[in-house]
Amino acid sequence: MTVLEQLTSGDAIALENKYGAHNYHPLPVVLTRGKGVHVWDVEGKKYYDFLSAYSAVNQGHCHPEIVNAMTEQAQELTLTSRAFYNDKLGQYEKFACELFGFDKLLPMNTGAEAVETALKITRKWAYEVKGIDENEAEIVVCENNFHGRTTTIISFSNDATARENFGPYTKGFIKIEYDNIEALEDVLKNNSNIAGFLVEPIQGEAGVYVPSDGYLAKAKALCEQYNVLFIADEVQTGIARTGRLLATCGNCSCKNKMCSGTPDVKPDVLILGKALSGGAYPVSAVLANDNIMNVIRPGNHGSTFGGNPIAATVAIAALKVIQEENLAENAHKLGELFREELNKYIENSSVVKLVRGKGLLNAIVINDDEKSNKAWDVCLALRDNGLLAKPTHGNIIRFAPPLVMTEEQLLDCVSIIVSTLKEFE
Ligand SMILES: *Cc1c(COP(=O)(O)O)cnc(C)c1O
Repeated sequence: MTVLEQLTSGDAIALENKYGAHNYHPLPVVLTRGKGVHVWDVEGKKYYDFLSAYSAVNQGHCHPEIVNAMTEQAQELTLTSRAFYNDKLGQYEKFACELFGFDKLLPMNTGAEAVETALKITRKWAYEVKGIDENEAEIVVCENNFHGRTTTIISFSNDATARENFGPYTKGFIKIEYDNIEALEDVLKNNSNIAGFLVEPIQGEAGVYVPSDGYLAKAKALCEQYNVLFIADEVQTGIARTGRLLATCGNCSCKNKMCSGTPDVKPDVLILGKALSGGAYPVSAVLANDNIMNVIRPGNHGSTFGGNPIAATVAIAALKVIQEENLAENAHKLGELFREELNKYIENSSVVKLVRGKGLLNAIVINDDEKSNKAWDVCLALRDNGLLAKPTHGNIIRFAPPLVMTEEQLLDCVSIIVSTLKEFE
């Protein structure tokens, strides 16, 4: 079937090193196949995937429903551009709008593009609806944010390696401390040119920082009070990862039990990506109600691939899998178990300081400074023991397996993780 030769790990890594730009530093493991919660390397070794492509593969690798939807559509029609209509996009837009509780959806491909789209919509809304003077709009963002890699997005990042020598930077952003409601109130009170507040419900890349209870609800209330759009970047936290359909789960109709009893925060602008396609295809989206989305008119914004019929078909299938397999509930249940089990070990550990997270978006903090290699070395040892994870910021390891995991598999993974960490005690 494959037209490419079967390489050894060493050969594959050497090729990437020689011919690929060095914009990543991958863990040395070369994968060739995936199924559910597992991936296999080119030598045939099997691993639990504890990254899920940064939470894109929530539905598990190569989910048959998603793959079937994709391959069937690929044989019918792949791309029309938005110069013409296609018969799948509208059905997807309706499905997603009803599921997440919004009037309209704007389809893009990658997370960063969807963030850019949300920023553009927010600025246009500020000038045309809120009435801010031309070119004066400001958007509030949080320190240690991660929203992608475009020139504008890195302009308001404070990750030095992501920013250095990529200037000049885009203006119009004000950075405040994350999880600090006073800081938000301060900036809103003292500046009448604020158009929006862009926030991750949990800061994933920063190291899985879960804000205090009520932070998001209070932030949303302040945004309402000051007529500022609350923009939730749920590219990583969304689509069941944190134990609810969305980490902000609002007036959605997902029928997920986890939604009730928890504070609902309905974003004005919702940004989705990653698991919106189950990791099968680049699909991202911005959702908003008409009073906001109607500022976008023909010619204002677009993408050749955005809203293509494969993306639309794949996204419907990926969202149906989330519903039909109760993946939000499973993530909630297994997340509680994961933290409980790891905490039993951490109590007496000198290697791990703590575990934190929500649902199946978790991280452990290694008892060492950010410059140490220990987290990297732990990840190499985890790999040797059959589990793949990646450090973030030197001393933090994120644990985010596919949500189709069973309890038995999770306990197996906990024992791999604990016995590996014990090698470092
Ligand atoms: C991954 C991510 C993005 C960027 O998505 P890409 O598809 O890599 O462009 C944006 N926001 C958050 C919160 C993310 O985790």
